[in-house]
Amino acid sequence: AALVTVMFSMGEMVTANQSLDEDTFQLLGAELGYDIQIRSVEDEDREILEAFNIDLEAEEAAEGEDDLVARPPVVTVMGHVDHGKTKLLDAIRSDDVAGAEAGGITQRIGAYQVTVEHDGQDRAITFIDTPGHEAFTQMRARGAEVTDIAILVVAANDGVMPQTIEALNHAQAAGVPIVVAVNKIDVEGASPDKVRGQLTEYGLVAEEYGGDTMFVDVSAKQRINIDELLEAVLLTADAALELTANPNKAARGVAIEAKLDPGRGSVITALIESGTLRVGDAIVAGSAHGTVRALFDDHGLPVDEAGPSFPVQVLGLQSVPSAGDSLLVAEDSRQARQIADKREAARRAATLAKRRKRMSLEDFNEALRAGQVETLNLIIKGDSSGTVEALESSLLELEVSEEVALNIIHRGVGAITQNDVNLATVDSAVIIGFNVRPAERVADYADAEGVEMKFYSVIYDAIDDVEAALKGMLKPIY
Ligand code: GDP
Repeated sequence: AALVTVMFSMGEMVTANQSLDEDTFQLLGAELGYDIQIRSVEDEDREILEAFNIDLEAEEAAEGEDDLVARPPVVTVMGHVDHGKTKLLDAIRSDDVAGAEAGGITQRIGAYQVTVEHDGQDRAITFIDTPGHEAFTQMRARGAEVTDIAILVVAANDGVMPQTIEALNHAQAAGVPIVVAVNKIDVEGASPDKVRGQLTEYGLVAEEYGGDTMFVDVSAKQRINIDELLEAVLLTADAALELTANPNKAARGVAIEAKLDPGRGSVITALIESGTLRVGDAIVAGSAHGTVRALFDDHGLPVDEAGPSFPVQVLGLQSVPSAGDSLLVAEDSRQARQIADKREAARRAATLAKRRKRMSLEDFNEALRAGQVETLNLIIKGDSSGTVEALESSLLELEVSEEVALNIIHRGVGAITQNDVNLATVDSAVIIGFNVRPAERVADYADAEGVEMKFYSVIYDAIDDVEAALKGMLKPIY
């Protein structure tokens, strides 16, 4: 039987639709007598590395208890806009006495580490310094799972809001334990208990209500209960997770930020997952390669090495990888370059495959006729909240058959952003832009990810197209 290869990236697997696709492929293949092999981008990369005798899984499997040491949890702060994510990250950072003693001024490198006393021991916690689930989603879309624990910030004067739910959905989908920070308890009218009540509906039941989620009432502004929150993070980590890594091997990690610095060249912030990264190491990050020229910690101080869960700025790559790309140490610079080249070639092929794959209104139309789909996911962006609301309510009023549903997964005012494209990627959504367009960079990104964007300036045109797609009668556009 012929071998058919289907490519997809891990990020897409997180939606139920996509794993259904996988099953469907298998069934279909069996039916037709094909041996269907489903390979993810991760599988592809594993093969590339195996060709260089690097097998990350075998490496881990071979590690004994003796090789493993405890590593700090990595935490992402999520929640609704204005509920205090940034303020909380600032409060945690500036409360860190050990950091202040270390001297250097805190640099924003994308992550930082604090030390807290817990059970008479000094324990470190690493924070991803980009609040919100956008970065989290983007990294997951690239297959990077760096977050161990999510702090869900909910303002006690505002309560659970749409992005609160979005954030907790993202964390739960990723299987990441949640600690709830009920923030702004200093504000008049704050009602922390109401937040606890609201969140029970989403499966987050406070310990004091008999559940297993820790809720901590805090004020990021007045720095109330920040220590208690960090304590809760450690307790949750200790109860739910086994956080260990082998520091005594070549480093493996993830690039969580990457940029081109006019003076220093390609600069990335890496979070080391296992092993230890050292100055002089030959490294590959995504399809960028180079030799570590210098390492800096989150205080801007040079360091010689970085171990597990440690965020460091890395200088020395010859090009700029993408946030979420994995980083590893190669045997020598020649091998690093070869791996980078292979990955670049694989990436090109995957981009081409993706471009033909994701949902467009026409695809939906066809899949609908073939009886393969029943939900059209849309993201609506418009130039004013009035038009967005008008378009959304008109679309939701569309009379479609019982088998077909329209799901507006996100809406907003303003230009189409990279986050919109990421969301569309994860949920196979089509983006509708009403009197707005994306920046060129975002358009290129959508193109590379195979996300369809449709632009309208007349509401009825948008409604007509969506209605036609939902009814499976869209006219082909040539
Ligand atoms: P983000 O959008 O979630 O990152 O929210 P920010 O951290 O930017 O906070 C939004 C606003 O709420 C800012 O004006 C903060 O000063 C304010 N804020 C954040 N935390 C608190 C708090 O604990 N108490 C009070 N009173 N205001 C807060």
